[in-house]
Amino acid sequence: MGQNLHDTSQHLLRVLATGNLEDLADRLQPKHDPLPPKIPGASLTSPEAVERRWQRLLEQGVPASVRATLWQPADSENAERFKGHIENLIGTVSLPVGVAGPLRVNGLHAQGDYYVPLATTEAALVASYHRGALVVSESGGCTSLLVAEGVSRAPGFAFANLIEAGHFVAWAVGEMDRFRTVAATTTRHGTLADLRFTLEGNHVYLNFDFLTGDAAGQNMVTLATQAICDDIAARCPVRAEYYFVEANLSGDKKASAQSFQNVRGKKVSAEVFIPADLIEKKLHTTARRMTDYWRMSAMGGVLSGTIGVQGHYANGLAALYLACGQDVACVSESAVGVTRFEERENGVLYAAVTLPNLIVGTVGGGTSLPWQRACLEVLGLHGDGKARALAEVTAALCLAGELSIIAALSAQEFTRAHRKLARG
Ligand code: NAP
Repeated sequence: MGQNLHDTSQHLLRVLATGNLEDLADRLQPKHDPLPPKIPGASLTSPEAVERRWQRLLEQGVPASVRATLWQPADSENAERFKGHIENLIGTVSLPVGVAGPLRVNGLHAQGDYYVPLATTEAALVASYHRGALVVSESGGCTSLLVAEGVSRAPGFAFANLIEAGHFVAWAVGEMDRFRTVAATTTRHGTLADLRFTLEGNHVYLNFDFLTGDAAGQNMVTLATQAICDDIAARCPVRAEYYFVEANLSGDKKASAQSFQNVRGKKVSAEVFIPADLIEKKLHTTARRMTDYWRMSAMGGVLSGTIGVQGHYANGLAALYLACGQDVACVSESAVGVTRFEERENGVLYAAVTLPNLIVGTVGGGTSLPWQRACLEVLGLHGDGKARALAEVTAALCLAGELSIIAALSAQEFTRAHRKLARG
């Protein structure tokens, strides 16, 4: 957070050039004059509710042309579909969707050639993943292996002192069967799989680890954990002074030091062997140069303190999550992982990615909306029994993206590709 003396002084000079100190201080003061009217309607998504919100915005000077762009006739027809997905609805934002592939995945759950829909406004992104996917596929596909699953909720309990905190842990250790039963009253598909304890002074964090079926699972684990907390409050002989259903130890929507110690969502490893002639023909470089780049970029990652070492998982993940109704904010933890490249005999490249926090689902959340469901159907992965395959395809996509970006940088084509595709 620190800024050096020179930058701080320069910044202050720039700020002071815009007005005198008193005026500037006045701008920053809290203002207590009456607020403009609130946006009405909360979770109502009917066209009438939307219209009431637009009336407010139009009265406040938002141009009618803006309403016409954000709230189009088709949106009125779809309005009820948004129920349970958004509050204070005023319209929709269109995003272009491209497709990368075929991407051949030889997984335990994903088997075959996948066309991967990607929603983005970033030029060169789909082209890059598409190129990587074709190289993976022409190499016989990648092996992609789901190795662990689980989604955690981590309530925190505060006690009078460390002794009571210790008593609480001693009590909770014997309650796992009861916690499982309580959790099962809230969900048909979720199961409580494990419980981890973290004691810090008079605070106790409980990490409840759930299997969530084909759902990404964050709502599921919240509802189940709330029921367990209520049960603890009702039955536990050691009374907590206060507790919270989530005390920020689950890793929800953030990269953290524990990202590699546990699974969050689904942990997948994917690898591919790419022959030298294919690297030369399609990627215009060699395994040696790609490995040189990987080694240097890995050091760059270490020097800059990244959690994990990878090129741009977030690009493919965000585009896939947007297209397929996943929670895009979970790119925060999902994009943690490790990429490794090695040169093997005869100029073959070995490339592997490991992502321990893929939060993906093929039911629930945004997957029920027609557009997002359609994207999952392009993959053939909507609905029951498909989430593990989606995780293996997601890791394969990240592998394709790593191959393409590292090849572009190795072949000195990175800048040219962006200039051509983004600047025409
Ligand atoms: P959800 O849509 O709230 O729940 C999944 C639903 O699908 C459940 O009703 C489940 O029934 C049902 N279901 C049907 N078939 C299933 C199957 N084969 N496997 C699993 N479930 C099946 O979605 P979620 O995955 O729990 O939560 C994801 C959403 O939570 C995302 O939209 C995300 O943005 C949001 N979120 C919530 C929080 C939070 O703390 N609440 C935090 C971050 C994100 P049963 O429940 O009866 O099993």
